[in-house]
Amino acid sequence: MKFTRGIAALAAAGLVLTLSACGSSQKTADQAAAPGTASAAGALVGVTMPTKSSERWIHDGDNIKSALEKLGYKVDLQYAENDIPTQVNQIENQITKGAKLLVIASIDGTAITTQLQEAADKKIPVIAYDRLIRNSPNVDYYATFDNFKVGVEQANSLVKGLGTGPGPFNIELFAGSPDDNNATFFFNGAMSVLKPLMDSGKLVVKSGQTDFARAAILRWDPATAQRRMEDLLTKTYTGGAKVAGVLSPYDGLSIGILSALKSNGYGTAGQPYAIVTGQDAEVASVKSIIAGEQYSTVFKDTRILADTTVKMADAVLKGGKPEVNNTTDYDNGKKVVPSFLLQPVTVDKANYQKELVDSGYYTAGQLK
Ligand code: BGC
Repeated sequence: MKFTRGIAALAAAGLVLTLSACGSSQKTADQAAAPGTASAAGALVGVTMPTKSSERWIHDGDNIKSALEKLGYKVDLQYAENDIPTQVNQIENQITKGAKLLVIASIDGTAITTQLQEAADKKIPVIAYDRLIRNSPNVDYYATFDNFKVGVEQANSLVKGLGTGPGPFNIELFAGSPDDNNATFFFNGAMSVLKPLMDSGKLVVKSGQTDFARAAILRWDPATAQRRMEDLLTKTYTGGAKVAGVLSPYDGLSIGILSALKSNGYGTAGQPYAIVTGQDAEVASVKSIIAGEQYSTVFKDTRILADTTVKMADAVLKGGKPEVNNTTDYDNGKKVVPSFLLQPVTVDKANYQKELVDSGYYTAGQLK
């Protein structure tokens, strides 16, 4: 890993040298291509990610940084450990340092309006990464996965895992952080599949907690999910009643949910785990899927998302228009943000090898 990074750094340094060697003609070309915009070559790009506590964001950050550096940009990559004021400061610093473009995966999608206004005043374009930034007209583009479809995939997988019997099956619902725009998209996508089955009586949310607000887990915190699951089990599943399935929108939450199930006697030969879904194909959860604990996850290839975002950034920095494929679904309260949506893939025991190992996302060794 270190070795590969070293090579990438050398290659990037080489590229910067090559670019600076042809410095002045490059500058003229850029200025001609984009009158009024700063020269793209060697520009600083500010990248802010929510947290290192979940692997996916580490992959995202690393992938964006190395791809931008390969194109000759400088990158300031920051993580905020899910602390909103920290992320606000990081964005402010990047503006002060002269960033020419910002890529932001926000913690609270409504909390950075002031910083984005500052960016707009300085003509710094902003790309929302994975999570939509809300309540600001100063979001230029959005790169993400089809978030509604992620929820549909999770629910379809839950239903598949419950099997073909007539039911009724007891299920419980979890949702993501209420300040993350994605969380409602995931939940609504899932409910588009589950609600008709709840209405027909095939699925029963025994706790009665079917609304987003009750299901939501602030900051996607695994420990909070574990506590909620424990509460549900001790208050609702009394007198021999069992939960057969749990809609979980994120692998970190799934791990908390599975721990709660385990400490309540699930995961044995006589009482197998409930069907638990997830998202992100994080290593611990893929191992859990292989071991027959977690049922599935939704894989979103962060390499492709980073690539898409870097292409967008490069086009914008050069004064062009990036490719988008959705101009209707992501209204942030101030505007519909032109978006590029990628497709998620459900991964379970049957296809993890093909999707995650054969695709080179993980080595077989990482999943042992
Ligand atoms: C992302 C998910 C992730 C979650 C928690 C969401 O915004 O889209 O991939 O599981 O945040 O980090």
